[in-house]
Amino acid sequence: MPSEGATVESVTEVVAFDAQDGDCILIRCIGEEPFNILIDAGRRGTEQAIEAYFKTLEPTERSIDLFVVTHIDSDHLAGAIGVAESAFLSPLVKEVWFNGPQHLYGSTTDVTEMSVAEAFRFCLAIRAKGWSWNGWFDEGAVQRGASVSPVSSLSLDILSPSQKQLLRLGKHWERELRRMKNRTVKQVVEMGQGEFDVAELANAPYCRDTSVVNASSIVLLMRHGDHRILMTADCPAELLLEGVPSPVEVDVCKFPHHGSGGNFSHELAGRIKSKCWIVSANGTNSHPEPASIARMLVAAQGGAMVLFNNSHAEATLWKDPSVERRHLLVTKYRDPQSPWLTLILQDGELYVRDAAPD
Ligand SMILES: [Zn+2]
Repeated sequence: MPSEGATVESVTEVVAFDAQDGDCILIRCIGEEPFNILIDAGRRGTEQAIEAYFKTLEPTERSIDLFVVTHIDSDHLAGAIGVAESAFLSPLVKEVWFNGPQHLYGSTTDVTEMSVAEAFRFCLAIRAKGWSWNGWFDEGAVQRGASVSPVSSLSLDILSPSQKQLLRLGKHWERELRRMKNRTVKQVVEMGQGEFDVAELANAPYCRDTSVVNASSIVLLMRHGDHRILMTADCPAELLLEGVPSPVEVDVCKFPHHGSGGNFSHELAGRIKSKCWIVSANGTNSHPEPASIARMLVAAQGGAMVLFNNSHAEATLWKDPSVERRHLLVTKYRDPQSPWLTLILQDGELYVRDAAPD
């Protein structure tokens, strides 16, 4: 990208891959100091989309300078094993952040849970590849309070997990994918096409996510030039509130936990103001839940763009002219012909590429 005159122009691209029901997002810091961060790798097979994407780049741009695997759930981790096994992608990885058993205080070695078994497989793959592992933390845990600046135009603050969450994960190694169903999308659709009440949806009772695994998610606040991006993984709302103790304004925020209502409380909706929200989900477990998007819209007031990396009933529900008009909502969906959807931040503007036609 060209830089004009004395001002260093920075462009930030956010690429949301089709990751089935998981997360896989690439953030490209483009400019004089290019830096690519891959955050999670979705379900197994997502590595093929990542590979296809990197093949569209110039050879000099093909680098995964930082690969963050936020937590051990299969919808974030399984594709990471695929990345490690890919002869094309594996050599691109320069540094991996992943809290493995050695980073979990008081961890046991019980590998009964599927996600834990996969986590161990990923640990073995990291070792086999010789990737630098939490290298910027002296191989210690990636946890709240740390801040790094890999290049001068980029800073990364780790907002979560806390040591306490890592301790809990280490002690239990249990997977609790208890989803909080406030109200299913089917009920919403049945309420009448286009006439659903956003305020009423927002007021659905909130039931917190109590998963120990989700609570161990790595949450990043990134600053690249003037751009701010909050990547929330599957973090529960209460821990995000701890990580973001005062109101924050960002350009892009990913809905935590695929838009689960149990991870997006009214208080959190009031805490984070974002121009654009990303939903990474495919409808599994009723994700995203209507309550999350409704809470965001009620709190946002000034409107927002919502990017969906998949089209399904829970997502297309929001493509409703009356709701879009009343709440200044702009919806974008990944073009089914493309394995990813791209958001570009440049000169204070947001541009979307690879979206389905409106
Ligand atoms: Zn997840």
